[in-house]
Amino acid sequence: MRIKNLLAATVCAALLASCGGAKEAEKTIFAMDTVMDIKAYGADAQSAVDEAENEIKRLETLFSRGNADSDIGRINGGASADVSPETAELIETALEVSSSTDGAFDITIAPVMDLWGFFTKDYRVPSDGEIKDALKYVDYRRVSVSGTHVSVGNGMKLDLGGIAKGYLSGRIIDIFKECGVTSGIVSLGGNVHCLGERPDGGAWRVAVQNPSGEGYIGVLSVTDKAVVTSGGYQRYFESGGKTYHHIIDPKTGVSAQSGLSSVTVVSEDGALADALSTALFVMGLDGAEKYYKEHGGFEAVLVADGGEVYVTDGLKDSFESEYEYKVING
Ligand code: ADP
Ligand code: MG
Repeated sequence: MRIKNLLAATVCAALLASCGGAKEAEKTIFAMDTVMDIKAYGADAQSAVDEAENEIKRLETLFSRGNADSDIGRINGGASADVSPETAELIETALEVSSSTDGAFDITIAPVMDLWGFFTKDYRVPSDGEIKDALKYVDYRRVSVSGTHVSVGNGMKLDLGGIAKGYLSGRIIDIFKECGVTSGIVSLGGNVHCLGERPDGGAWRVAVQNPSGEGYIGVLSVTDKAVVTSGGYQRYFESGGKTYHHIIDPKTGVSAQSGLSSVTVVSEDGALADALSTALFVMGLDGAEKYYKEHGGFEAVLVADGGEVYVTDGLKDSFESEYEYKVING
C-alpha cells in the first residue's frame, strides 16, 4: 500500500508539473455513521487524501460495534481479545480520560446506550430497574489493557463513539504529515482537525455552532488543532414531552443534564479533545472549570442552557464572538 501511494504521489507530482493543476485534493466519505470531509493542499495532496481514506476504512472496521469480527466486536462478544495496536492505544487513552474525569467519560457505557436504543436507533425510555441493571456493567476500572490484549468484566461492552472520531482525525493529520502535506483540514461529522495554516496563510477559522438555534456563537482561529464539539442537540429523541440525547451520565444512566448545551474542546490531540468534550459536557460548568484549572492541556468554549458563553483564557485572543462571554482562568 505504501509503495502504491508513493507511486501515486509520483504520478500526481508529474501531472502537476505538466499541467500546473490545482494543488488541492478533497474527498467526502461516509464512515462511522457520519459524513467525513478531508482536504489537503500541496504537491502531495492527492496521495495524502487517498491514504487517509484507506486509514478511515481500516480503523472503521477495527472499531465497529456492529461487526462481530472487529476488534471491538470480539471484545464485546467474548470479554477479551487480542486487538490491533491502534485499538489498544485508543482504549488506553479512553481509560486515562475516564480516570482523570472520575468516570464522567466511560467507554463501558455501551449497555446503557443499547437500552435507550441509541445503537439500533429504535429509541425508547427504559424503566429505572432496567437502567439500574445495565449500570452494573458500566465501570471503566474493570477494563484492562496489557500490550494488545484487552479484557473487560463479564457482560461488559465497549462503545468508542465518544472518542473514535477524534482518534481518527489525529491519524489522518499524521498521514498528511508523513505524505509531506503541511496544510489541510478534516471534518469528521463536526470533529474538525486542522494541520498548519490555511494554504493562503493565516489561521483556520472554525465556527462554534449555536446549540439552541440558528447560526454560530463565535469563530475560533486555530492552527494545528482539533476542535471538537459535544452537544445534546446533536443526536436525540423525544418521548412524553421530554428530550433524551446521546450523551449519558455514567453515574445515572440517563442523558446528562448538567446545565450545559454544548462543549467545544480545542487541543492538539484529537482523541483527547473528543473524549474531553463528552466528559466536560457530563461534568457541567463547575466540574469543567475545576478540571481545566487542575489539568490544562486543552482549551474550551462552553455554552450553558441559558445561553451564557464561557471561554477558557488560552482562547481569549482566538475567539471572536458577537456574544458577551466570561473568561475561565487556568
Ligand atoms: P458525537 O460523536 O455525536 O460527535 P460525542 O463525542 O459527545 O458526540 O460522543 C457521543 C457518543 O459517545 C455517544 O453516541 C456514545 O456512543 C458515547 N457516549 C455517550 N455517553 C458517553 C460517556 N459518558 N462516556 C463515553 N462515551 C459516551
Ligand atoms: Mg466526544
